[in-house]
Amino acid sequence: MAPSPSGQLLIGVDLGGTKILARAVDPATGKAQGRVKHVTPAGPAAVLDALVDTITKVDGWSEAAGVGIGVPGFVDRHGVVAKCPNIEGWDEPVAVAAELTERLGKPVVVANDVNCGVVAEHRLGAGRGQTNLLAVFVGTGVGGGVVINDTLAVGDRGMAGEIGHVTVEPGGRPCGCGGFGHLETYAGRAGIDREARRRAETGGTELLVELAGDGPIKSRHLARGLRDGDPTTVELLAEAADALALVIGNAAALLDLPRVVLGGGVVDKLGQPFLDQIAASDRFGGFGPDFVELVAADRIDDAGAIGAAVLAADQLVGVSI
Ligand SMILES: [Zn+2]
Repeated sequence: MAPSPSGQLLIGVDLGGTKILARAVDPATGKAQGRVKHVTPAGPAAVLDALVDTITKVDGWSEAAGVGIGVPGFVDRHGVVAKCPNIEGWDEPVAVAAELTERLGKPVVVANDVNCGVVAEHRLGAGRGQTNLLAVFVGTGVGGGVVINDTLAVGDRGMAGEIGHVTVEPGGRPCGCGGFGHLETYAGRAGIDREARRRAETGGTELLVELAGDGPIKSRHLARGLRDGDPTTVELLAEAADALALVIGNAAALLDLPRVVLGGGVVDKLGQPFLDQIAASDRFGGFGPDFVELVAADRIDDAGAIGAAVLAADQLVGVSI
């Protein structure tokens, strides 16, 4: 859809597992004003109360044409949030968009938080100018989103873009979703963490496990292991790059994508050399690396809240603004 004209304001909200962040955003430029934070409470009823409280306190609320909210869960096209594994006590579907539209008296659009980040990259970041785009975020897991003909693909069950659960190795490492051999078990930090510990216990090097101490292996530990030439780190990141190369190349062939944006903690920390390693992988899928350009995400500040506002502006065109 066409970007909204400049000068309008929407409230963009990033609902996270620990905090709620709301800003007033001009969706045409991504410029934001006002900033209100709130601790995320337990249970959907308390979360909805906290959202109303946070949104109505943002400087710009009275002029705002609507609200966009990114949530860490599956969201269908009607703004029903199936469940939020990162929010305590949110196990049942809640019609967030309908309820908040009623309570706030302005239209509310709700979307998956990763998809909001994808919209921010597409409209304002490294994917600017692309009609079709895949963005992949490599962090604890691997998330992603797909834009087709300038419109975010949501899917029938709100699961479009779940690239972390594409199979790269049938019967391979177990995934948190119950499947096996999924991309995020090879490229996500939690999957790398599990495998690094398994290898350390079975004769592999122990540097990553030592660096992590009592906590999980972090992106900076991976960067350090790579810098020190630790064999386990080098192997695991080569496997991660291979898995990403296979899936990204295949997705580019399927959707005819000239550019794929990569972000998330692992990519941010390892930087361009990791993108180059993915491009150089001999497991690159589809038509190979010459067919698709891999670009680092722009790391837009408050991308989740800003992307939520942009998405809401797109969906509310012709309704209220
Ligand atoms: Zn999975």
